[in-house]
Amino acid sequence: MRRPIIAGNWKMNTCRESAAALIDGLKGEAAESRSDVEVIVCPPFPYLSLAAEKVAGSCIQVGGQNAWHEDAGAFTGETSCQMLKDVGCQWVILGHSERRQINGESDSLINQKTHKALSTGLGVILCVGELLEQREADQTEAVLEEQMTGGLAGVTAESMANVVIAYEPVWAIGTGKVATDEQAEAAHAFLRSWLEKRFNLDVAAATRILYGGSVKPDNAAGLLGQPNVDGALVGGASLKTELFIPIIQAGAASVA
Ligand code: PEP
Repeated sequence: MRRPIIAGNWKMNTCRESAAALIDGLKGEAAESRSDVEVIVCPPFPYLSLAAEKVAGSCIQVGGQNAWHEDAGAFTGETSCQMLKDVGCQWVILGHSERRQINGESDSLINQKTHKALSTGLGVILCVGELLEQREADQTEAVLEEQMTGGLAGVTAESMANVVIAYEPVWAIGTGKVATDEQAEAAHAFLRSWLEKRFNLDVAAATRILYGGSVKPDNAAGLLGQPNVDGALVGGASLKTELFIPIIQAGAASVA
């Protein structure tokens, strides 16, 4: 059985005080050593240390929202995977559509980052997803195939134990326009069959595939109830405990 993951991508939001308050608010829900769902928070870089300190003793894990693929050196403004480890991260989000679109990240750059994160001992949440015009032109599967092939080039079946895929249709991110349960399930089933072809049946059966794109308490149960949806990557709703906690509970209920 795949243990669901509910991950919160805070993007460029919060301040020291609100970041601390957000984690304190989540701790009650996730503090008991729950075995039903994994909870990950991904604050902005300046608050990662604070987050890692505050989650100590709870089962909340911490992730970065991005990382660079070199260990150190003249890379102004960048953060290495080792630095993320050093401040207490277990995870890193790579290939988020905002980084692909705003920062022009290519599949090959994302692939280099994936290799570095895995060799550093970070779990990778690899984001893939199509634009609205690509969906409308019936190119969703081709886009997903290209992003998976590029992002996971050279990654071994063994390393896939530390990779989670996040299917995030770009048209659903931050728009309030959520994919239907059926659209999400179809894309997830496609991704799982791609994993079987590229790796093997065991990898396909074990890899968690999260849905991301306007997940809210009122749509979480339907999405998370789909057989190939193993959790959620949540943006806006992860910034409010009263929204994020019911999504965590929906994740737990999806395997109950
Ligand atoms: C995201 O940032 O990964 C995301 C899914 O955002 P939202 O939930 O706000 O659509």
